[in-house]
Amino acid sequence: MSPDRSWITKRIKPGGYGFTDEYNEGVKYFLAFARSNSSKPNDPNLLINCPCNTCRNALYQLIPDVEFHLFATGFLESYTIWSFHGEASASRNEQMDDREDVFDEYEMFMDAIGGGAFGAENSSHEDPNEQASTFLDNVNKVGEPIYPGNLKYSQLKFVTKLLHWNRNKCSDKAFDELLLLLGDVFPDKHKLPLNYYAVKKMVKRLSLGYEKIHACENDCMLFYGGDKDLRNCKYCKLSRYKATTNAGNNTVPRKVLRHFKITDRLQRLYMSTRTAAHMKYHKNRIVTEGILTHPADGEEWKEFDKNLILSRF
Ligand SMILES: [Zn+2]
Ligand SMILES: [Zn+2]
Repeated sequence: MSPDRSWITKRIKPGGYGFTDEYNEGVKYFLAFARSNSSKPNDPNLLINCPCNTCRNALYQLIPDVEFHLFATGFLESYTIWSFHGEASASRNEQMDDREDVFDEYEMFMDAIGGGAFGAENSSHEDPNEQASTFLDNVNKVGEPIYPGNLKYSQLKFVTKLLHWNRNKCSDKAFDELLLLLGDVFPDKHKLPLNYYAVKKMVKRLSLGYEKIHACENDCMLFYGGDKDLRNCKYCKLSRYKATTNAGNNTVPRKVLRHFKITDRLQRLYMSTRTAAHMKYHKNRIVTEGILTHPADGEEWKEFDKNLILSRF
């Protein structure tokens, strides 16, 4: 389907003067491709998504303007499958899987920070380590209003709402178009991500990362460790993968377990003032007489602490 697209990265001649012939040809080829795949190939005022480094496919431009942008700022290097211009991208299944991943990561993130009680506060009296402070920076950034003066929605909250709304509903392209429209309506200096790709990046920056492990749909086993290459469940014999209509690779798993590393999760929990208080409750032994609470002051628990890593916190 796609011929060599390495020209995308070779705009300027080695030595720094002028554009390479390769790039020239490549841009011509791209523009012809985009035109012929559009719904109105003969329209002189045809608008297409501009894949230049400034518009990043989030803005529509006239073809001559796209050409100018591509020479002026370069072609978006990551854009090698021209899905905004009629080229078939990853299968729908993969796209949907990807979408669910973003959503799940987001859910886990919200879960890990205690349902969104994360303010600009930082519970630690010590300087947070580098990883933690990058994470907190990112959290603070997405905590800014979606546009100046909006007290109801932070960027984070608005994007969550959008992801919720979008779950399994529309294609990447439709989602991008919605963002484009909203971005146009919102006041200047809004913080709406440009496109779905940017949403994904934002979620990734906040996420804790997790491991995906395929599972038997009937919950008999995980395809893990010594069983990681099996294609059928050892017990009920059910296929690990969904049957697909097109012959060849059927690699869409029937069930996936997303495993969230406990250390990462604990680190995040201790970063939030509110959740950190819950986490330390046991150690701090705030026990009010006469109120039914966790027996944190009991002898057994004191003994437990002595033996356990918890006493370090
Ligand atoms: Zn552009
Ligand atoms: Zn099974």
